Amino acid sequence: MSTLLGNLFILAAPSGAGKSSLIKALLAKTPPTGANPLQVSVSHTTRKPRPGEVNGEHYHFVSHAEFEALIAQNAFFEYAEVFGNYYGTSRITIEETLHQGIDVFLDIDWQGARQVKKLMPDTCGVFILPPSVETLRQRLEGRGQDDESVIAKRMAEAVSEMSHYNEFDYVLINDDFDTTLAELNNIVQAQRLRTHKQQLRHDALVKALLA
Ligand code: 5GP
Repeated sequence: MSTLLGNLFILAAPSGAGKSSLIKALLAKTPPTGANPLQVSVSHTTRKPRPGEVNGEHYHFVSHAEFEALIAQNAFFEYAEVFGNYYGTSRITIEETLHQGIDVFLDIDWQGARQVKKLMPDTCGVFILPPSVETLRQRLEGRGQDDESVIAKRMAEAVSEMSHYNEFDYVLINDDFDTTLAELNNIVQAQRLRTHKQQLRHDALVKALLA
């Protein structure tokens, strides 16, 4: 069992399942400076920024060569190639944040999730599924500006990601947003109350009570 005070969570989903909105809303519920702080890890990627994405906030955008140099330095806790780009989680940032007792959310794919589970088996993995094929398709169609082959490619990528749902500890069906958010929040709260974490947090109390 980990002796780190903070809890590590993985949130995985196909694009179109509503993952980013859920993380955003969860953070608003659990601010990073509150009694039980929670942060979302900012990954490194070789993907180009999309309009509105800010370096250091959404991702650390790096070149292929920079990413490979970081791999060589063993700087990643996990990394994977996802749909043609590299994505990775900084080792030092995760370890330092968890050491400080801050819970960390990783928004990563199934390949990264597997690596993290191996390194830290008490990581809590949550997978989000869309409520129906039609809803997923509608969400992937976006503003209707993409042609059929682009949408078909997105659907195939979503199916590939979803085929790994059963490698996670919890599965949420994101039909009603508020319900799913409440469910996610319940998982976070329960995870914080696990015995080995409570032992670490309340060591003095337990010792005093059992003296
Ligand atoms: P996007 O390019 O749409 O932001 O992300 C594409 C996929 O890469 C998503 O499934 C996202 O969860 C995943 N991803 C983002 N950051 C990381 C990371 O650091 N490691 C891994 N393994 N996957 C990541």
